[in-house]
Amino acid sequence: MASSSSIKSRHVAVIGAGAAGLVAARELRREGHSVVVFERQKQVGGTWIYTDHVESDQLSVDPTRIVVHSSVYGSLRTNLPRECMGFRDFPFAIRSESIDPRRFPSHPEVLAYLQDFAKEFGIEKLIRFETTVVRVSPAAESDGGEGIGKWRIESTEKEKKIHRDEIYDAVVVCNGHYIEPRLAEIPGISCWPGKEMHSHNYRLPSPFKDQVVVVIGSSASAVDISRDISGFAKEVHVASWSNPADTFIKQNGYTNIWMHSMIERVHEDGSAVFQNGKTVLGDVIMHCTGYKYHFPFLETNGEVTVDDNCVGPLYKHVFPPALAPSLSFVGIPYRVLPFPMFELQSKWISGILSGRETKTMKATFEGLGIPKRFTHCLGIDQFEYYDWLGSQIGCSGTEEWRKEMSLPIFLRKMKHPESYRDEWEDHHLVSQPYQEFSFLSGNALELNTFIASKLLVRVQLAHQPFESFKPESRPIQMVSISNCSKTCKLQLLHSAVM
Ligand code: FAD
Repeated sequence: MASSSSIKSRHVAVIGAGAAGLVAARELRREGHSVVVFERQKQVGGTWIYTDHVESDQLSVDPTRIVVHSSVYGSLRTNLPRECMGFRDFPFAIRSESIDPRRFPSHPEVLAYLQDFAKEFGIEKLIRFETTVVRVSPAAESDGGEGIGKWRIESTEKEKKIHRDEIYDAVVVCNGHYIEPRLAEIPGISCWPGKEMHSHNYRLPSPFKDQVVVVIGSSASAVDISRDISGFAKEVHVASWSNPADTFIKQNGYTNIWMHSMIERVHEDGSAVFQNGKTVLGDVIMHCTGYKYHFPFLETNGEVTVDDNCVGPLYKHVFPPALAPSLSFVGIPYRVLPFPMFELQSKWISGILSGRETKTMKATFEGLGIPKRFTHCLGIDQFEYYDWLGSQIGCSGTEEWRKEMSLPIFLRKMKHPESYRDEWEDHHLVSQPYQEFSFLSGNALELNTFIASKLLVRVQLAHQPFESFKPESRPIQMVSISNCSKTCKLQLLHSAVM
Protein backbone atom coordinates (compact mmCIF):
# COMPACT_ATOMS: atom_id res chain seq x y z
CA MET A 1 0.00 0.00 0.00
CA ALA A 2 1.35 3.44 -0.87
CA SER A 3 1.33 6.35 1.56
CA SER A 4 -1.16 9.11 0.76
CA SER A 5 1.69 11.44 -0.29
CA SER A 6 2.82 9.03 -3.01
CA ILE A 7 -0.62 8.75 -4.57
CA LYS A 8 -0.54 10.15 -8.08
CA SER A 9 -3.27 11.69 -10.17
CA ARG A 10 -3.12 10.67 -13.84
CA HIS A 11 -4.65 12.05 -16.99
CA VAL A 12 -6.68 9.11 -18.22
CA ALA A 13 -8.57 8.45 -21.45
CA VAL A 14 -11.52 6.09 -21.33
CA ILE A 15 -12.72 4.72 -24.66
CA GLY A 16 -16.48 4.15 -24.66
CA ALA A 17 -19.42 5.35 -22.57
CA GLY A 18 -21.30 2.07 -22.22
CA ALA A 19 -21.74 0.47 -18.81
CA ALA A 20 -17.99 -0.28 -18.58
CA GLY A 21 -16.80 3.19 -19.58
CA LEU A 22 -19.28 4.92 -17.28
CA VAL A 23 -18.24 3.04 -14.18
CA ALA A 24 -14.55 3.26 -15.13
CA ALA A 25 -14.89 7.04 -15.41
CA ARG A 26 -16.60 7.22 -12.03
CA GLU A 27 -13.96 5.13 -10.27
CA LEU A 28 -11.06 6.96 -11.89
CA ARG A 29 -12.50 10.29 -10.85
CA ARG A 30 -13.23 9.08 -7.32
CA GLU A 31 -9.57 8.13 -7.08
CA GLY A 32 -8.57 11.66 -8.11
CA HIS A 33 -7.56 11.12 -11.73
CA SER A 34 -8.54 13.53 -14.48
CA VAL A 35 -10.73 11.73 -17.00
CA VAL A 36 -11.80 12.22 -20.60
CA VAL A 37 -14.30 9.72 -22.01
CA PHE A 38 -14.42 9.29 -25.78
CA GLU A 39 -17.79 8.15 -27.13
CA ARG A 40 -18.63 7.89 -30.79
CA GLN A 41 -22.42 7.84 -30.24
CA LYS A 42 -24.57 10.81 -29.22
CA GLN A 43 -25.49 9.42 -25.81
CA VAL A 44 -24.40 7.09 -23.04
CA GLY A 45 -25.50 3.45 -22.83
CA GLY A 46 -23.49 1.62 -25.52
CA THR A 47 -25.13 -1.56 -26.65
CA TRP A 48 -28.35 -0.70 -24.76
CA ILE A 49 -29.12 2.15 -27.18
CA TYR A 50 -31.66 0.35 -29.35
CA THR A 51 -31.89 1.43 -32.97
CA ASP A 52 -33.99 0.27 -35.93
CA HIS A 53 -30.93 0.79 -38.10
CA VAL A 54 -28.90 -2.20 -39.17
CA GLU A 55 -25.70 -2.45 -41.17
CA SER A 56 -25.79 -2.41 -44.98
CA ASP A 57 -23.91 -5.72 -44.98
CA GLN A 58 -26.18 -7.93 -42.85
CA LEU A 59 -23.32 -10.31 -42.10
CA SER A 60 -21.17 -7.37 -40.93
CA VAL A 61 -18.02 -8.56 -42.68
CA ASP A 62 -17.46 -5.65 -45.08
CA PRO A 63 -14.68 -3.58 -43.45
CA THR A 64 -15.96 -0.42 -45.20
CA ARG A 65 -19.49 -0.71 -43.80
CA ILE A 66 -20.82 1.95 -41.42
CA VAL A 67 -20.87 0.20 -38.06
CA VAL A 68 -24.11 0.18 -36.09
CA HIS A 69 -23.04 -0.35 -32.51
CA SER A 70 -26.07 -1.92 -30.85
CA SER A 71 -26.93 -5.60 -31.07
CA VAL A 72 -30.13 -5.20 -29.09
CA TYR A 73 -33.36 -6.49 -30.70
CA GLY A 74 -36.85 -5.14 -30.13
CA SER A 75 -38.12 -7.88 -27.81
CA LEU A 76 -34.95 -8.16 -25.72
CA ARG A 77 -35.38 -8.55 -21.98
CA THR A 78 -32.44 -8.92 -19.63
CA ASN A 79 -31.18 -12.41 -18.96
CA LEU A 80 -30.30 -11.49 -15.37
CA PRO A 81 -32.65 -10.26 -12.66
CA ARG A 82 -32.26 -6.56 -12.08
CA GLU A 83 -30.92 -7.00 -8.52
CA CYS A 84 -27.98 -9.11 -9.76
CA MET A 85 -27.37 -7.06 -12.85
CA GLY A 86 -26.92 -3.61 -11.35
CA PHE A 87 -23.79 -1.91 -10.08
CA ARG A 88 -22.99 -2.66 -6.47
CA ASP A 89 -23.61 0.81 -5.08
CA PHE A 90 -26.18 2.05 -7.59
CA PRO A 91 -28.84 -0.64 -7.53
CA PHE A 92 -30.87 -1.43 -10.60
CA ALA A 93 -33.96 -1.08 -8.43
CA ILE A 94 -37.52 -0.35 -9.46
CA ARG A 95 -37.99 3.41 -9.67
CA SER A 96 -41.22 5.35 -9.70
CA GLU A 97 -40.46 6.28 -13.31
CA SER A 98 -39.49 2.75 -14.33
CA ILE A 99 -40.49 2.04 -17.90
CA ASP A 100 -40.66 -1.69 -17.19
CA PRO A 101 -40.51 -2.62 -13.51
CA ARG A 102 -40.30 -6.36 -14.05
CA ARG A 103 -37.42 -8.28 -12.50
CA PHE A 104 -36.07 -9.11 -15.96
CA PRO A 105 -36.94 -5.86 -17.71
CA SER A 106 -36.88 -4.99 -21.39
CA HIS A 107 -33.99 -3.03 -22.85
CA PRO A 108 -35.29 0.58 -22.49
CA GLU A 109 -35.26 0.11 -18.71
CA VAL A 110 -31.54 -0.76 -18.79
CA LEU A 111 -30.74 2.25 -20.94
CA ALA A 112 -32.68 4.52 -18.56
CA TYR A 113 -30.75 3.02 -15.63
CA LEU A 114 -27.39 3.76 -17.29
CA GLN A 115 -28.53 7.30 -18.11
CA ASP A 116 -29.49 7.75 -14.44
CA PHE A 117 -26.10 6.42 -13.38
CA ALA A 118 -24.30 8.93 -15.61
CA LYS A 119 -26.45 11.76 -14.26
CA GLU A 120 -26.14 10.75 -10.62
CA PHE A 121 -22.33 10.73 -10.75
CA GLY A 122 -21.87 13.67 -13.12
CA ILE A 123 -20.18 11.54 -15.79
CA GLU A 124 -21.73 13.25 -18.82
CA LYS A 125 -19.57 16.32 -18.43
CA LEU A 126 -16.48 14.12 -18.80
CA ILE A 127 -17.66 12.70 -22.11
CA ARG A 128 -16.83 13.90 -25.60
CA PHE A 129 -19.82 12.64 -27.56
CA GLU A 130 -19.75 11.88 -31.28
CA THR A 131 -16.01 11.47 -30.97
CA THR A 132 -14.39 8.36 -32.40
CA VAL A 133 -10.97 7.18 -31.28
CA VAL A 134 -9.20 6.22 -34.46
CA ARG A 135 -5.72 5.44 -33.13
CA VAL A 136 -4.15 4.65 -29.77
CA SER A 137 -0.39 4.17 -29.85
CA PRO A 138 2.53 4.40 -27.42
CA ALA A 139 3.74 8.02 -27.22
CA ALA A 140 7.28 8.80 -28.32
CA GLU A 141 9.53 10.76 -25.98
CA SER A 142 9.29 13.71 -28.35
CA ASP A 143 5.51 13.69 -27.80
CA GLY A 144 5.91 15.24 -24.38
CA GLY A 145 6.66 14.16 -20.82
CA GLU A 146 9.05 11.33 -20.33
CA GLY A 147 7.29 9.46 -23.10
CA ILE A 148 7.57 6.15 -21.35
CA GLY A 149 4.22 4.53 -20.66
CA LYS A 150 2.24 7.42 -22.11
CA TRP A 151 -0.27 7.09 -24.94
CA ARG A 152 -1.07 9.12 -27.99
CA ILE A 153 -4.76 9.27 -28.81
CA GLU A 154 -6.01 10.41 -32.16
CA SER A 155 -9.73 11.09 -32.45
CA THR A 156 -12.23 12.64 -34.81
CA GLU A 157 -15.28 14.53 -33.66
CA LYS A 158 -18.59 15.18 -35.42
CA GLU A 159 -18.12 13.35 -38.68
CA LYS A 160 -14.44 14.12 -38.89
CA LYS A 161 -14.84 17.91 -38.65
CA ILE A 162 -12.48 18.09 -35.67
CA HIS A 163 -9.27 16.05 -35.42
CA ARG A 164 -7.43 15.77 -32.13
CA ASP A 165 -4.04 14.32 -31.32
CA GLU A 166 -3.37 14.19 -27.59
CA ILE A 167 -1.14 12.57 -25.00
CA TYR A 168 -2.54 10.74 -21.96
CA ASP A 169 -0.86 9.05 -19.01
CA ALA A 170 -3.12 6.04 -19.32
CA VAL A 171 -5.86 4.51 -21.45
CA VAL A 172 -8.72 2.36 -20.25
CA VAL A 173 -10.32 0.46 -23.14
CA CYS A 174 -14.11 -0.02 -22.76
CA ASN A 175 -15.19 -0.29 -26.39
CA GLY A 176 -17.59 -3.25 -26.01
CA HIS A 177 -17.33 -6.72 -27.48
CA TYR A 178 -20.60 -7.31 -29.29
CA ILE A 179 -19.91 -5.56 -32.59
CA GLU A 180 -17.60 -7.70 -34.70
CA PRO A 181 -19.57 -10.85 -35.61
CA ARG A 182 -18.19 -14.37 -35.66
CA LEU A 183 -19.71 -16.54 -38.41
CA ALA A 184 -20.25 -20.25 -38.82
CA GLU A 185 -18.35 -21.89 -41.65
CA ILE A 186 -20.85 -23.72 -43.83
CA PRO A 187 -19.70 -25.94 -46.72
CA GLY A 188 -21.34 -24.82 -49.97
CA ILE A 189 -22.41 -21.40 -48.67
CA SER A 190 -20.89 -19.41 -51.56
CA CYS A 191 -23.47 -20.98 -53.96
CA TRP A 192 -26.44 -20.94 -51.60
CA PRO A 193 -29.11 -18.58 -53.00
CA GLY A 194 -30.81 -17.58 -49.72
CA LYS A 195 -30.17 -14.63 -47.44
CA GLU A 196 -27.54 -14.76 -44.67
CA MET A 197 -27.38 -12.45 -41.69
CA HIS A 198 -25.86 -12.20 -38.21
CA SER A 199 -27.95 -11.65 -35.09
CA HIS A 200 -26.14 -8.30 -34.71
CA ASN A 201 -28.51 -7.07 -37.46
CA TYR A 202 -31.69 -8.68 -36.12
CA ARG A 203 -34.31 -6.28 -34.75
CA LEU A 204 -37.88 -7.46 -35.39
CA PRO A 205 -39.57 -10.73 -36.43
CA SER A 206 -42.10 -9.38 -38.98
CA PRO A 207 -39.74 -9.41 -42.01
CA PHE A 208 -39.52 -13.20 -41.62
CA LYS A 209 -43.23 -13.73 -42.32
CA ASP A 210 -43.87 -17.10 -43.99
CA GLN A 211 -40.16 -17.79 -44.40
CA VAL A 212 -38.12 -20.85 -43.50
CA VAL A 213 -35.37 -19.63 -41.21
CA VAL A 214 -32.32 -21.61 -40.13
CA VAL A 215 -30.88 -20.23 -36.90
CA ILE A 216 -27.34 -21.28 -36.00
CA GLY A 217 -26.32 -21.23 -32.35
CA SER A 218 -27.38 -22.24 -28.88
CA SER A 219 -26.66 -19.18 -26.75
CA ALA A 220 -29.10 -16.60 -25.36
CA SER A 221 -29.60 -14.77 -28.67
CA ALA A 222 -30.31 -18.01 -30.60
CA VAL A 223 -32.85 -19.06 -27.98
CA ASP A 224 -34.58 -15.65 -27.91
CA ILE A 225 -34.52 -14.96 -31.64
CA SER A 226 -35.74 -18.39 -32.75
CA ARG A 227 -38.78 -18.00 -30.48
CA ASP A 228 -39.34 -14.40 -31.54
CA ILE A 229 -39.28 -15.29 -35.24
CA SER A 230 -41.48 -18.38 -34.84
CA GLY A 231 -44.55 -16.15 -34.44
CA PHE A 232 -44.15 -15.00 -38.06
CA ALA A 233 -42.01 -17.57 -39.86
CA LYS A 234 -43.32 -20.69 -41.54
CA GLU A 235 -40.61 -22.84 -39.97
CA VAL A 236 -37.63 -22.23 -37.73
CA HIS A 237 -34.81 -24.79 -37.68
CA VAL A 238 -32.15 -24.34 -35.02
CA ALA A 239 -28.75 -25.87 -35.78
CA SER A 240 -26.20 -26.20 -33.01
CA TRP A 241 -22.74 -27.69 -32.59
CA SER A 242 -23.58 -28.57 -29.03
CA ASN A 243 -26.38 -30.94 -30.10
CA PRO A 244 -25.46 -34.59 -30.76
CA ALA A 245 -25.32 -35.52 -34.47
CA ASP A 246 -28.68 -37.36 -34.46
CA THR A 247 -30.64 -34.52 -32.81
CA PHE A 248 -34.03 -33.83 -34.37
CA ILE A 249 -36.55 -32.58 -31.83
CA LYS A 250 -39.67 -30.48 -32.13
CA GLN A 251 -39.39 -27.66 -29.62
CA ASN A 252 -41.81 -28.08 -26.73
CA GLY A 253 -44.65 -25.57 -26.82
CA TYR A 254 -44.08 -24.56 -30.47
CA THR A 255 -45.56 -25.94 -33.67
CA ASN A 256 -42.86 -24.64 -36.00
CA ILE A 257 -39.47 -24.83 -34.22
CA TRP A 258 -37.20 -27.84 -34.65
CA MET A 259 -33.83 -28.44 -32.99
CA HIS A 260 -31.13 -30.04 -35.11
CA SER A 261 -27.48 -30.89 -34.99
CA MET A 262 -25.16 -28.61 -37.00
CA ILE A 263 -25.63 -27.93 -40.74
CA GLU A 264 -23.50 -30.32 -42.77
CA ARG A 265 -23.81 -28.57 -46.12
CA VAL A 266 -25.97 -26.18 -48.13
CA HIS A 267 -26.72 -26.44 -51.85
CA GLU A 268 -27.42 -24.27 -54.89
CA ASP A 269 -31.11 -25.28 -54.85
CA GLY A 270 -31.53 -23.56 -51.47
CA SER A 271 -31.48 -26.71 -49.37
CA ALA A 272 -29.66 -27.07 -46.07
CA VAL A 273 -28.68 -30.56 -44.92
CA PHE A 274 -28.12 -31.16 -41.22
CA GLN A 275 -25.81 -33.75 -39.64
CA ASN A 276 -28.95 -35.63 -38.60
CA GLY A 277 -29.70 -36.28 -42.27
CA LYS A 278 -32.72 -33.94 -42.47
CA THR A 279 -32.99 -31.45 -45.35
CA VAL A 280 -34.93 -28.18 -45.43
CA LEU A 281 -35.37 -25.56 -48.15
CA GLY A 282 -34.32 -22.40 -46.35
CA ASP A 283 -34.92 -18.73 -47.11
CA VAL A 284 -32.62 -17.29 -44.44
CA ILE A 285 -29.63 -18.42 -42.38
CA MET A 286 -29.27 -16.40 -39.19
CA HIS A 287 -25.87 -16.69 -37.50
CA CYS A 288 -26.36 -16.35 -33.73
CA THR A 289 -22.74 -17.28 -33.35
CA GLY A 290 -21.33 -14.59 -31.12
CA TYR A 291 -18.66 -11.98 -31.59
CA LYS A 292 -14.91 -11.42 -31.74
CA TYR A 293 -12.83 -9.07 -29.63
CA HIS A 294 -11.87 -6.19 -31.85
CA PHE A 295 -9.70 -3.15 -31.17
CA PRO A 296 -9.29 -1.53 -34.59
CA PHE A 297 -7.72 1.61 -33.08
CA LEU A 298 -5.09 -0.06 -30.89
CA GLU A 299 -1.42 -0.22 -31.88
CA THR A 300 0.84 -1.88 -29.33
CA ASN A 301 3.77 -3.11 -31.43
CA GLY A 302 2.53 -6.65 -30.96
CA GLU A 303 2.36 -6.50 -27.14
CA VAL A 304 -1.40 -7.13 -27.21
CA THR A 305 -2.91 -9.42 -29.80
CA VAL A 306 -6.21 -11.17 -30.37
CA ASP A 307 -5.54 -14.78 -31.20
CA ASP A 308 -8.28 -17.42 -31.34
CA ASN A 309 -10.49 -14.90 -29.56
CA CYS A 310 -8.07 -14.57 -26.68
CA VAL A 311 -6.87 -11.05 -25.88
CA GLY A 312 -3.40 -11.30 -24.55
CA PRO A 313 -1.27 -11.62 -22.79
CA LEU A 314 -3.31 -10.07 -19.98
CA TYR A 315 -2.89 -10.14 -16.23
CA LYS A 316 -6.25 -11.07 -14.70
CA HIS A 317 -8.01 -10.15 -17.97
CA VAL A 318 -7.18 -6.48 -17.38
CA PHE A 319 -3.52 -5.40 -17.74
CA PRO A 320 -1.10 -6.41 -20.51
CA PRO A 321 2.02 -6.98 -18.36
CA ALA A 322 4.41 -5.26 -20.79
CA LEU A 323 2.27 -2.11 -20.91
CA ALA A 324 0.84 -2.06 -17.39
CA PRO A 325 -0.49 -0.09 -15.77
CA SER A 326 -0.93 2.57 -18.44
CA LEU A 327 -3.05 0.33 -20.68
CA SER A 328 -5.97 -1.63 -19.31
CA PHE A 329 -9.21 -3.27 -20.45
CA VAL A 330 -12.56 -3.37 -18.69
CA GLY A 331 -15.10 -6.04 -19.57
CA ILE A 332 -13.12 -8.73 -21.36
CA PRO A 333 -14.45 -11.79 -19.46
CA TYR A 334 -17.80 -13.28 -20.49
CA ARG A 335 -20.32 -15.58 -18.77
CA VAL A 336 -20.20 -13.13 -15.91
CA LEU A 337 -22.31 -10.53 -14.12
CA PRO A 338 -21.09 -7.71 -16.36
CA PHE A 339 -21.90 -4.49 -14.49
CA PRO A 340 -20.61 -5.49 -11.02
CA MET A 341 -17.52 -7.01 -12.64
CA PHE A 342 -16.85 -3.77 -14.56
CA GLU A 343 -17.12 -1.94 -11.24
CA LEU A 344 -14.57 -4.16 -9.47
CA GLN A 345 -12.15 -4.06 -12.41
CA SER A 346 -12.45 -0.27 -12.59
CA LYS A 347 -11.76 0.19 -8.88
CA TRP A 348 -8.68 -2.00 -9.21
CA ILE A 349 -7.38 -0.10 -12.25
CA SER A 350 -7.96 3.26 -10.55
CA GLY A 351 -6.01 2.20 -7.45
CA ILE A 352 -3.15 0.75 -9.47
CA LEU A 353 -2.87 3.92 -11.57
CA SER A 354 -2.62 6.14 -8.55
CA GLY A 355 0.00 3.88 -6.99
CA ARG A 356 -2.32 2.99 -4.11
CA GLU A 357 -2.02 -0.65 -5.08
CA THR A 358 1.10 -2.20 -6.55
CA LYS A 359 1.35 -5.55 -8.22
CA THR A 360 3.81 -7.64 -10.13
CA MET A 361 1.91 -8.50 -13.23
CA LYS A 362 2.27 -11.56 -15.32
CA ALA A 363 -0.02 -13.22 -17.81
CA THR A 364 -2.42 -15.52 -16.03
CA PHE A 365 -5.00 -18.06 -17.07
CA GLU A 366 -2.81 -19.18 -19.92
CA GLY A 367 -1.08 -22.53 -20.03
CA LEU A 368 -3.73 -23.95 -17.72
CA GLY A 369 -4.78 -26.52 -20.27
CA ILE A 370 -7.94 -24.77 -21.45
CA PRO A 371 -8.36 -24.04 -25.18
CA LYS A 372 -7.20 -20.51 -25.89
CA ARG A 373 -10.59 -19.35 -27.14
CA PHE A 374 -12.13 -20.02 -23.70
CA THR A 375 -9.51 -17.96 -21.83
CA HIS A 376 -12.02 -15.23 -21.01
CA CYS A 377 -15.02 -17.49 -20.33
CA LEU A 378 -15.46 -17.45 -16.56
CA GLY A 379 -18.84 -19.05 -15.76
CA ILE A 380 -18.66 -20.62 -12.33
CA ASP A 381 -15.09 -19.29 -11.84
CA GLN A 382 -16.35 -15.72 -11.95
CA PHE A 383 -16.95 -15.59 -8.20
CA GLU A 384 -13.36 -16.54 -7.43
CA TYR A 385 -12.30 -13.79 -9.83
CA TYR A 386 -14.52 -11.21 -8.08
CA ASP A 387 -13.13 -12.32 -4.71
CA TRP A 388 -9.62 -11.84 -6.01
CA LEU A 389 -10.44 -8.36 -7.35
CA GLY A 390 -12.17 -7.54 -4.07
CA SER A 391 -9.09 -8.62 -2.11
CA GLN A 392 -6.98 -6.18 -4.14
CA ILE A 393 -9.18 -3.22 -3.39
CA GLY A 394 -10.28 -4.07 0.12
CA CYS A 395 -13.91 -5.02 -0.40
CA SER A 396 -15.92 -8.20 -0.72
CA GLY A 397 -15.92 -9.83 -4.14
CA THR A 398 -19.62 -10.66 -4.35
CA GLU A 399 -22.50 -10.22 -2.00
CA GLU A 400 -23.71 -13.65 -0.89
CA TRP A 401 -27.25 -13.00 -2.18
CA ARG A 402 -25.93 -12.08 -5.64
CA LYS A 403 -24.06 -15.34 -5.82
CA GLU A 404 -26.96 -17.40 -4.50
CA MET A 405 -29.35 -15.72 -6.90
CA SER A 406 -27.28 -15.89 -10.05
CA LEU A 407 -26.08 -19.50 -9.89
CA PRO A 408 -29.55 -21.11 -10.24
CA ILE A 409 -30.48 -18.58 -12.93
CA PHE A 410 -27.75 -19.84 -15.21
CA LEU A 411 -29.30 -23.31 -14.90
CA ARG A 412 -32.94 -22.17 -15.11
CA LYS A 413 -32.14 -20.23 -18.27
CA MET A 414 -31.09 -23.46 -19.96
CA LYS A 415 -33.93 -25.57 -18.57
CA HIS A 416 -36.80 -23.10 -18.91
CA PRO A 417 -35.87 -20.55 -21.59
CA GLU A 418 -39.50 -19.47 -22.03
CA SER A 419 -40.39 -18.91 -18.44
CA TYR A 420 -37.26 -18.16 -16.38
CA ARG A 421 -37.82 -14.41 -16.70
CA ASP A 422 -41.38 -14.54 -15.31
CA GLU A 423 -41.38 -17.45 -12.87
CA TRP A 424 -38.78 -17.80 -10.17
CA GLU A 425 -38.17 -19.63 -6.97
CA ASP A 426 -35.91 -17.26 -5.08
CA HIS A 427 -38.50 -15.00 -3.44
CA HIS A 428 -36.71 -15.52 -0.15
CA LEU A 429 -33.56 -13.94 -1.60
CA VAL A 430 -35.13 -10.87 -3.19
CA SER A 431 -35.65 -9.01 0.07
CA GLN A 432 -31.94 -9.17 0.93
CA PRO A 433 -30.61 -6.96 -1.84
CA TYR A 434 -33.41 -4.47 -1.27
CA GLN A 435 -32.48 -4.28 2.38
CA GLU A 436 -28.85 -3.68 1.45
CA PHE A 437 -29.76 -1.15 -1.20
CA SER A 438 -31.74 0.82 1.35
CA PHE A 439 -28.67 1.30 3.52
CA LEU A 440 -26.44 2.60 0.78
CA SER A 441 -25.29 6.09 1.40
CA GLY A 442 -22.93 8.74 0.10
CA ASN A 443 -23.10 9.49 -3.56
CA ALA A 444 -25.01 6.35 -4.34
CA LEU A 445 -28.72 6.17 -4.73
CA GLU A 446 -30.26 6.08 -1.30
CA LEU A 447 -33.31 4.02 -1.58
CA ASN A 448 -35.25 5.49 1.30
CA THR A 449 -34.70 9.03 0.13
CA PHE A 450 -35.49 7.83 -3.33
CA ILE A 451 -38.78 6.24 -2.32
CA ALA A 452 -39.83 9.01 0.01
CA SER A 453 -39.13 11.69 -2.55
CA LYS A 454 -41.26 10.00 -5.16
CA LEU A 455 -44.28 9.48 -2.87
CA LEU A 456 -45.66 6.75 -5.08
CA VAL A 457 -44.64 3.19 -5.63
CA ARG A 458 -46.00 1.55 -8.71
CA VAL A 459 -46.58 -2.08 -8.11
CA GLN A 460 -46.70 -4.15 -11.20
CA LEU A 461 -47.76 -7.78 -11.14
CA ALA A 462 -44.81 -9.99 -11.96
CA HIS A 463 -46.55 -12.01 -14.63
CA GLN A 464 -47.95 -9.09 -16.56
CA PRO A 465 -46.53 -9.30 -20.08
CA PHE A 466 -44.84 -6.12 -21.26
CA GLU A 467 -47.10 -5.72 -24.31
CA SER A 468 -50.13 -5.25 -22.11
CA PHE A 469 -48.25 -2.98 -19.76
CA LYS A 470 -49.69 0.23 -21.18
CA PRO A 471 -50.72 3.26 -19.16
CA GLU A 472 -54.44 2.58 -19.54
CA SER A 473 -54.20 -1.10 -18.62
CA ARG A 474 -51.51 -1.05 -15.92
CA PRO A 475 -52.47 -2.91 -12.79
CA ILE A 476 -50.78 -0.25 -10.71
CA GLN A 477 -51.43 0.28 -7.08
CA MET A 478 -50.72 3.87 -6.18
CA VAL A 479 -49.48 3.77 -2.64
CA SER A 480 -48.79 6.97 -0.81
CA ILE A 481 -45.71 6.43 1.32
CA SER A 482 -44.82 9.93 2.34
CA ASN A 483 -45.56 9.16 5.99
CA CYS A 484 -44.39 5.57 6.06
CA SER A 485 -41.81 4.25 8.47
CA LYS A 486 -38.60 2.87 7.00
CA THR A 487 -39.75 -0.71 7.60
CA CYS A 488 -43.03 -0.02 5.91
CA LYS A 489 -41.26 1.49 2.90
CA LEU A 490 -39.11 -1.58 2.61
CA GLN A 491 -42.13 -3.84 2.83
CA LEU A 492 -43.80 -1.88 0.06
CA LEU A 493 -40.75 -2.24 -2.03
CA HIS A 494 -40.54 -5.97 -1.37
CA SER A 495 -44.12 -6.38 -2.45
CA ALA A 496 -43.28 -4.44 -5.58
CA VAL A 497 -40.68 -6.93 -6.67
CA MET A 498 -42.43 -10.13 -5.66
P1 FAD B 1 -20.92 -1.35 -24.84
O1 FAD B 1 -22.20 -1.23 -24.15
O2 FAD B 1 -20.90 -2.00 -26.15
O3 FAD B 1 -20.27 0.11 -24.92
C1 FAD B 1 -19.10 0.38 -25.64
C2 FAD B 1 -19.12 1.85 -26.04
O4 FAD B 1 -17.87 2.16 -26.66
C3 FAD B 1 -20.20 2.17 -27.04
O5 FAD B 1 -20.99 3.24 -26.57
C4 FAD B 1 -19.44 2.55 -28.32
O6 FAD B 1 -20.10 3.53 -29.09
C5 FAD B 1 -18.12 3.03 -27.76
N1 FAD B 1 -16.99 2.89 -28.71
C6 FAD B 1 -16.57 1.77 -29.31
N2 FAD B 1 -15.50 2.03 -30.08
C7 FAD B 1 -15.25 3.35 -29.95
C8 FAD B 1 -14.27 4.23 -30.51
N3 FAD B 1 -13.32 3.80 -31.36
N4 FAD B 1 -14.30 5.54 -30.17
C9 FAD B 1 -15.25 6.01 -29.30
N5 FAD B 1 -16.20 5.22 -28.75
C10 FAD B 1 -16.20 3.92 -29.07
N6 FAD B 1 -25.55 -7.92 -19.90
C11 FAD B 1 -26.26 -8.01 -18.76
O7 FAD B 1 -25.77 -7.69 -17.67
N7 FAD B 1 -27.57 -8.44 -18.79
C12 FAD B 1 -28.18 -8.76 -19.95
O8 FAD B 1 -29.34 -9.14 -19.94
C13 FAD B 1 -27.44 -8.65 -21.17
N8 FAD B 1 -28.01 -8.93 -22.36
C14 FAD B 1 -27.31 -8.69 -23.50
C15 FAD B 1 -27.93 -8.89 -24.74
C16 FAD B 1 -27.27 -8.64 -25.92
C17 FAD B 1 -27.94 -8.86 -27.23
C18 FAD B 1 -25.93 -8.19 -25.88
C19 FAD B 1 -25.19 -7.88 -27.13
C20 FAD B 1 -25.29 -8.01 -24.67
C21 FAD B 1 -25.97 -8.27 -23.47
N9 FAD B 1 -25.36 -8.08 -22.23
C22 FAD B 1 -26.08 -8.22 -21.08
C23 FAD B 1 -23.95 -7.76 -22.16
C24 FAD B 1 -23.70 -6.27 -22.35
O9 FAD B 1 -22.90 -6.16 -23.43
C25 FAD B 1 -23.11 -5.70 -21.11
O10 FAD B 1 -24.09 -5.74 -20.11
C26 FAD B 1 -22.67 -4.25 -21.20
O11 FAD B 1 -23.72 -3.42 -21.57
C27 FAD B 1 -21.45 -4.04 -22.05
O12 FAD B 1 -20.98 -2.75 -21.77
P2 FAD B 1 -19.65 -2.18 -22.40
O13 FAD B 1 -19.50 -0.82 -21.88
O14 FAD B 1 -18.55 -3.15 -22.21
O15 FAD B 1 -19.88 -2.17 -23.97
